[in-house]
Amino acid sequence: MDKYDILFEPVQIGPHTTKNRFYQTPHCNGMGSRNPRGHAAMRGVKAEGGWGVVNTEEMQVHWTTDQAPFIEGQMWDDADIAPNRLMVEEVHKHGALAGCQLAYHGMDATNWYSRVPVLGPRSMSIWGGSGIDPIHTKKMDKQDILNVRRWHKKAALRAKEAGFDIAYVYSETIVWSFLNKRINDRTDEYGGDLENRARFFMELLADTKDAIGDKCAIAVRLAVTELGDHPNDWDKAQSADLLGMMAEIPDLWDVNVTGWENDSAVSRFYKEGHEEQYIGFVKGLTTKPVVGVGRFTSPETMVSMVQRGVLDLIGAARPSIADPFLPNKIQEGRIDDIRECIGCNICVMGDFQAIPIRCTQNPTMGEEYRRDWHPEKMNAATSDKDILVVGAGPAGLECARALGDRGYNVILAEAERELGGRVTRESRLLGLSEWVRVADWRITQIEKMDNVTVYPGSKMSAEDVMEVECEHVIIATGASWRRDGIGREKWKPVPGHDQDNVYTPGDIMDGKRPTGKVVIFDNDHYYMGSVLAEELHRDGCEVTIVTERAVVAEYTKYTLEDMHIHKRLHEKGIKKVVQHDLAEIKANGVTLEHAISEEETFLECDAVVLVTDRLPEDGLYHDLLPYLEEGKLKSLKTIGDCHAPNIIERAVFAGHNAAREFDEDVPEGGLPFKRERAIY
Ligand code: ADP
Ligand code: SF4
Repeated sequence: MDKYDILFEPVQIGPHTTKNRFYQTPHCNGMGSRNPRGHAAMRGVKAEGGWGVVNTEEMQVHWTTDQAPFIEGQMWDDADIAPNRLMVEEVHKHGALAGCQLAYHGMDATNWYSRVPVLGPRSMSIWGGSGIDPIHTKKMDKQDILNVRRWHKKAALRAKEAGFDIAYVYSETIVWSFLNKRINDRTDEYGGDLENRARFFMELLADTKDAIGDKCAIAVRLAVTELGDHPNDWDKAQSADLLGMMAEIPDLWDVNVTGWENDSAVSRFYKEGHEEQYIGFVKGLTTKPVVGVGRFTSPETMVSMVQRGVLDLIGAARPSIADPFLPNKIQEGRIDDIRECIGCNICVMGDFQAIPIRCTQNPTMGEEYRRDWHPEKMNAATSDKDILVVGAGPAGLECARALGDRGYNVILAEAERELGGRVTRESRLLGLSEWVRVADWRITQIEKMDNVTVYPGSKMSAEDVMEVECEHVIIATGASWRRDGIGREKWKPVPGHDQDNVYTPGDIMDGKRPTGKVVIFDNDHYYMGSVLAEELHRDGCEVTIVTERAVVAEYTKYTLEDMHIHKRLHEKGIKKVVQHDLAEIKANGVTLEHAISEEETFLECDAVVLVTDRLPEDGLYHDLLPYLEEGKLKSLKTIGDCHAPNIIERAVFAGHNAAREFDEDVPEGGLPFKRERAIY
């Protein structure tokens, strides 16, 4: 018996049986109701990759609970049956069960689209949308409660008609605001003790079972505890009491923690399986199958979860995004082929910014329909041309790997002894160790290819490139951090930037470390400023972060990191100075200028770290252009950061895209993907 066989045992879920224990839990993807074909194809690829159950994202059961501008699923009326059936059909093609996460959001909705009041158990500000939308709920009366029950039931019937095998009654919705005593201040039979606060939940569950329980398994998703802002307002003890009331009613328990930043926690702060401490008690209270998440990518951890009786089904959103073929790879014993999620939450960013899902590790995610990209299959080579790729960062590694997969002969030259470029360097910073997986997976794949030869320790000049005698050259030489302070809000160099006490993130990663009092000027607003703050604090520096914005690391709200970052900086006593520009750097400190009043203050420090823009390292490309013009090279292009400095996800995508397009007939300026237009 194979040690992973236990993961491939069938599990009974209500009237259905899943072929294995791999369960893609609901996850947002920025396509949903707007891009039903894109959505269906993406879910279908997961089913093809071996997931036994594939779910939708949150699916609004009625138009009075819209989440604009977020793009989610919809089951508002009968017209929604056909687009959702597309997904069901794709999932069923591969023998997987299709589930839908029915939801009436209530206080998690905005209703910016429908323009009707958001409903809630009391009148108060909503918490959904941007988190600060100036919208209040209408306190639900008995008729509102009956209406929501009726709408939920109708949506369940439509889900059944669309062919879904599993339908959710999702608690982190309007249900949550009824359950939570902090929010629910009602004095009627829907408020007060837990039995009353759970009444609405129980009614929705009974309605759904009654309506579709003959054909569909009914799943409950319950956040068993609330972490973060209001710890213990909803806790394990109350969840246990709730389970005491309803443990055997649903056909499946999908359990996690809330808020979302604790559930989809980034690897910088939480590692694989971090939810076990919270959800571990559930299986002891029900005979129904239990699924939970924990960014599981290790089959050993998965087996342990089942053997120790923590979970029956291995829930995964992000691991299934990074590698839709994870189950098949485990079944085939191809463990080192698993493309492990790095826990960066770029996939979550897509939801916040209402764009189709993107993944750092999996450049095909969200492109299954649009570009016909498959995560495991490349378009075959159309010639026997040789290609030289210069630079083995995420862009160069992915390009060489994908070209090799197509069947081309590739030479990959890298200046450093170590491959991986920025991901390898950044993964040594505090908390970012899992980022090295971007390089590791690609290196492992390349090592298996006879047609890709890697030359580390080979810094290439234009002459070196020409000596290789490859007529096709792809330059992926990356970018470097600016030393002059120019960045998003700063158009001119900062006076004093050329002093010895000024550092860039690149310097820090190269081991050049400041001491004493350090000011980090963060004009990047993503993770780097706060990571370096932690890193230098650990080294014994007294660190202050300065930013022009009103909050530090503002972009990280889209990757669910911001709250964790603020907490960490606070715990470590790292000071923040917000809404200040860096006016001048001196030997003994910096002059700061208030962003509004322009008032200047002097802050003493020994060193300054400039986390500002990056500049493309495209010198080699320019040195090679004359050879292209003379016809000595047939093709020459830049990809990744040396083309335009960007996040890692973009570099991987650029490498992949260049490989897909090589030697293909790509019309200049032509639209490279299908556009989905709504049809009725
Ligand atoms: P990207 O994110 O675009 O992949 P990186 O900065 O991560 O960019 O990687 C670029 C890689 O290119 C680095 O590993 C760097 O050492 C390498 N490199 C830069 N210039 C040369 C060169 N002239 N010859 C070979 N490798 C180079
Ligand atoms: Fe994982 Fe990052 Fe991909 Fe999301 S974007 S699945 S967190 S690697």
